[in-house]
Amino acid sequence: VYDVAIIGAGVSGAALAARLGHLGMQVALVERDWRPPQLFVGELLQPGGLAALEGMGLAHCVEGIDAQPTRGFGVTYNGETHSLVYPARKLPGGREQETLGYAFHHPRFVERLRQTAEASANVEVKHGTVGSLVSEGGRVRGLTYRDKTGTERTVRARLVVAADGRNSRLRRNLGKQEPERVSYSVGVLLRDVELPCPGCGNVIVAQPSPMLAYRIGSRDVRILVDVPGKLPGTRNGELATHLRAVVAPQLPEHLRGAFLLAIEKGRLRAMPNYALAPKPERVPGAVMLGDALNMRHPVTGSGMTVALGDARLLSDLLRDTELGDPDAIDASVTRFYKERKPLSSVLDMLAGALYDVFRADGPGLERMREAMIRYWKLGGRAAAGPMALLSGLAPRPSMLLWHYTAVALLGVSSNLVPASQTSPRRTPDLRGASQLAAAALSTIRPQLRRALL
Ligand SMILES: Cc1cc2nc3c(=O)[nH]c(=O)nc-3n(C[C@H](O)[C@H](O)[C@H](O)COP(=O)(O)OP(=O)(O)OC[C@H]3O[C@@H](n4cnc5c(N)ncnc54)[C@H](O)[C@@H]3O)c2cc1C
Repeated sequence: VYDVAIIGAGVSGAALAARLGHLGMQVALVERDWRPPQLFVGELLQPGGLAALEGMGLAHCVEGIDAQPTRGFGVTYNGETHSLVYPARKLPGGREQETLGYAFHHPRFVERLRQTAEASANVEVKHGTVGSLVSEGGRVRGLTYRDKTGTERTVRARLVVAADGRNSRLRRNLGKQEPERVSYSVGVLLRDVELPCPGCGNVIVAQPSPMLAYRIGSRDVRILVDVPGKLPGTRNGELATHLRAVVAPQLPEHLRGAFLLAIEKGRLRAMPNYALAPKPERVPGAVMLGDALNMRHPVTGSGMTVALGDARLLSDLLRDTELGDPDAIDASVTRFYKERKPLSSVLDMLAGALYDVFRADGPGLERMREAMIRYWKLGGRAAAGPMALLSGLAPRPSMLLWHYTAVALLGVSSNLVPASQTSPRRTPDLRGASQLAAAALSTIRPQLRRALL
């Protein structure tokens, strides 16, 4: 009987296995495909995710993979790029240190995590697809998986962790609701170009929805194009036509040639973006984490920060748990679901609200978007606060609501008090102010409901 059996050796599962193995627990790590995952997801690691890695002794996993440091975000709107940096870390003695995230090729990072897990004498890796859980007496006691030869095998463990990602099969077995599709992302890889804000994650505000751009290697830049609604056909060329006709003209001019070339060479892939509220289904002997439990739109690049935060928190709790005592395990799982909430709520709400505001589907949200950009340009706390939230280093939902309200109030007041320092308008616009207030409320309300479940 293993102490812990983990389903999925992706970001959260491999990191968790490495940490638990290091702590001396006996771990089985079951993965259906040990080849490097050929995905364009998970390419920007926010500083909070890096801190979780450091806390698990895994910071070396971003070394030697040509990872590119990022010091903040650049937002390109109406042809102008405004950059926002993560607030510096305060060190003892009053000194300050630059706060950084990293962007990289996802498969290289996952490989490093997997190699670290496999190198632990306490982690046994298994090749196979997990099909179901073994339950006895109302408690999960293990799992079954089918190995490469098609033989069904059983692993018994004191705790089973479902880290099987976005399309989790175990989520269904554990009775949790299914995710909601928000939009699609199309990934396009560009060579030898400079970003509008070099050394940053970049958001390019466009119609009908925003694009993201990261430098993921010394020569490589990833563009993620958001496509709301139905995805144009990839095989019949509709998607390529959409990218050429609608998206390319909205890119900064210096990126356009490389973007069109990448489309011509077929260097594009598409996948759905999901949102999933973090409400757990309590099943004794099992726990869910990462994307299996909770997802948000990738506009804030924060999925790995949540997934690695989960791995760190769960491993910290298990370190102090008597694993021979099922009640003690269940109590730690309950604490895990509760204590992960502040970080996941902030990043879920931020992603949901930012996606809506960047998309600005309607006049109220358009005004909210203008207000948000003006707010950031005020600098000081108005820039540092939102960036601290985005970095994943400030898991404080109240701080998020404070800044969101401040943006809405700035927007309302600049519609009502014309020609002020913060308003480009010349006459009071009551209708605009009320449209903005209504849009601000209707955007945050469902995010709040989902995050607080
Ligand atoms: C378009 C897009 C862009 C994104 N960009 C970013 C970004 O820039 N930054 C960021 O932080 N996040 C980003 N994310 C989110 C991020 O990729 C995920 O949040 C993160 O990878 C989740 O990690 P995980 O461990 O939960 O799942 P995964 O890393 O997906 O791992 C799941 C693992 O489980 C295995 N598995 C699945 N089912 C089984 C089974 N039945 N048996 C055995 N093994 C199984 C899979 O093969 C896989 O290895 C993005 C997401 C999308 C959709």
